Amino acid sequence: SHAIVWFRRDLRLQDNPALHHAVAQGYQVIPVYIYAPEEETPWPSGRASRWWLHHSLQALDMALRAKNSRLLFFQGCSLPILQKLVESTRTKAIYWNRLSEPAIITRDKTIKTALRSQGITVQSFKADLLHEPGTIHTQAGKPYQLFTPFWRTCQRSLLTELPLTAPPIFTAPQPWPPSFNLADLKLLAALSTNEFAQFWQPGETGAWQQLQQWCSGPISHYAEQRDFPGIDGVSRLSPHLHFGEISPRQVLGAVEYALHHLNGRVRGVQNYERQLFWREFAYYLLYHYPYTPEQPLRPVFKKFPWRTDYQKLLKAWQQGQTGYPLVDAGMRELLTTGWMHNRVRMVTASFLTKNCAIPWQEGAYWFWEHLVDADLANNTLGWQWVAGCGADAVPYYRIFNPLLQSTHFDPQGDYLQRWLPELADLPPQYRHRPWLAQPQPDYPTPIIDYMQSRREALGAYQHLKK
Ligand code: FAD
Repeated sequence: SHAIVWFRRDLRLQDNPALHHAVAQGYQVIPVYIYAPEEETPWPSGRASRWWLHHSLQALDMALRAKNSRLLFFQGCSLPILQKLVESTRTKAIYWNRLSEPAIITRDKTIKTALRSQGITVQSFKADLLHEPGTIHTQAGKPYQLFTPFWRTCQRSLLTELPLTAPPIFTAPQPWPPSFNLADLKLLAALSTNEFAQFWQPGETGAWQQLQQWCSGPISHYAEQRDFPGIDGVSRLSPHLHFGEISPRQVLGAVEYALHHLNGRVRGVQNYERQLFWREFAYYLLYHYPYTPEQPLRPVFKKFPWRTDYQKLLKAWQQGQTGYPLVDAGMRELLTTGWMHNRVRMVTASFLTKNCAIPWQEGAYWFWEHLVDADLANNTLGWQWVAGCGADAVPYYRIFNPLLQSTHFDPQGDYLQRWLPELADLPPQYRHRPWLAQPQPDYPTPIIDYMQSRREALGAYQHLKK
């Protein structure tokens, strides 16, 4: 008899508890993917995410085909699609891996109840986090709002479970039920070329290669190099983790292995391990404060006097034309590669919210549209953290100075050179301050006065505190 394995953001064969369980029960497995972004997120999925998803699904389908199986594609409302499939294939059971985003939790509960009432076995598994958000709380039974105590509690209750292996050859159902093709989902519709392919390899194989390369050495320099955008000093695993091509348990396993094999260079590894828990914290906060993708976690910030007439400034920021080189380099890296270095995400976000006084939600939507790792939890945490209105946030009065950040974290101007061709031929000191160069390069003059906008931001904050 048949069991459906409903793939969602767990696009992998290894360490996939739902798949593992279905195979272990001896079922003929029907792997299914349903494209239903409107059920899952407040905003339509962005062009970069859709590009990644297309290629990740293609890779998963190919990996399944190599094992005598395939991925069935559908689009629309998940419940009726699953019900129809259950009926036409006389399926006895459905398995999936849980996700902890608010809309998905609600949707999944409805589906579970409906299918169980039809006599179907429905079982879901923990897979996308090391700790599910409902299991961690303060001694008073409240959710944590500070990272460090949250992280310590997680560490105390961390189970060292071994990742599951991929199933062997599948027994395929005969015949395969009808479904869409991947191309019917039109995930590549907004893209003219395969523009991101030179930067990324979506799919489980790409994720593994990246993880293994990272843990074989570069990870040990993470502590010293992670803040320097001109250096290849971070893991670039975020889109792979977002789409579940690799599980946090697998990453942690590889990190622990590195800890024991990169003798004496443990600081980088420990720092990296800690950073993985920011992802856990982000999901934790989203679970406990489900309104935060649109609303500040700290209600006092609802009254913040944001600028209202900001379309021109916003456009300049979006296109990397602000006249502040580090901000512009980051925004152009985002448009070209679908990713931005974390240090530069902080600088660009601070510039938008504090110097331009543009609501952080505008920045969050733009990132959502253009990041290959666009992630509701991490993006919300990142934006609220920088804007100062979230949990454990940077104090509002800490305003990143784009010029100092650029001279400090990109001293030779390598990152600026890579992303700003107009400044590439200038000596490093002028790449940071192109307004001093003679002759003037063909590059915008600063759209806003840093010192004045800083004073205004601090004034607005003082006003809010009263
Ligand atoms: P590494 O430094 O190698 O870290 C490894 C992994 O740890 C990451 O892949 C990620 O899963 C996790 N991680 C690291 N830092 C953070 C963090 N600060 N918050 C949450 N998880 C973290 N990350 C996303 O995955 N999606 C987003 O949409 C996103 N939006 C952001 C928006 C802003 C304004 C800011 C400041 C940060 C945002 N981040 C987001 C967090 C962080 O910038 C990225 O996770 C990181 O840059 C990804 O690169 P990496 O995999 O090389 O990270």
